[in-house]
Amino acid sequence: MADFSESSRVVTLFTRDFGKVAVVAKGAKRLKNPFEAALDLLTVCEVVFLRKSSSSLDILTEAHLRKRFRPRPGDLGSLYGGYYVAELLDALSEEYDAHPVLFDESTLALERLSTEFRADLTLVRFELVILREIGQLPAFDACVACGEPVGPTRQFTFKVSQGGLVCSECLIEEPPRHWISPESAAVLCGLAQESSTAWQQISVTTGQMQDLRLVLNSTLAHILGRRPKMLRYLPF
Ligand SMILES: [Zn+2]
Repeated sequence: MADFSESSRVVTLFTRDFGKVAVVAKGAKRLKNPFEAALDLLTVCEVVFLRKSSSSLDILTEAHLRKRFRPRPGDLGSLYGGYYVAELLDALSEEYDAHPVLFDESTLALERLSTEFRADLTLVRFELVILREIGQLPAFDACVACGEPVGPTRQFTFKVSQGGLVCSECLIEEPPRHWISPESAAVLCGLAQESSTAWQQISVTTGQMQDLRLVLNSTLAHILGRRPKMLRYLPF
């Protein structure tokens, strides 16, 4: 949110039908304003807004609160995880590029972050879905150079510049410091799948989670040209 005038704000919304939109919320800074508490970060609302011509901002006319994000008390992974979801949605989506699947997955991620479910796994799932939706999901099932399926016969490393895993036979340079295990590659494939519930049955070990973070951190930094800001506050 940014101040627009003495009484109005510019608010960025991620909508199910239109994707990201920036709207002027007139009177939003007044104590008694027409949007009440609906425009807080990470709230789910029903909104009505007027599309303007390309040269001026859209105008928000109605916003009704439907659901508020409730992080688990005393759990920073839950609270900062919510902020991280908001940061990625803003940074990786384009205005007026609708992604209903991503919208639904975002609200599910926020719901899960309010429960006992593992916050680290919830975020990995969300990161993989957003990468899939914007067409930037790396290949985790085979070597991107020769097509050799990931398995125990060769070693595989992650090459962000090549968009996925590369096998030991195809590596031109020095062997990497880190190999991605076939189990971690299978977990990445499983967590990226389209079913919105089946992935929740996948169990992930601490060692595999390190592989997952290595792959996702370098992929996101590559796309954004920097590390996501909230990443350093996440306790995992
Ligand atoms: Zn290969």
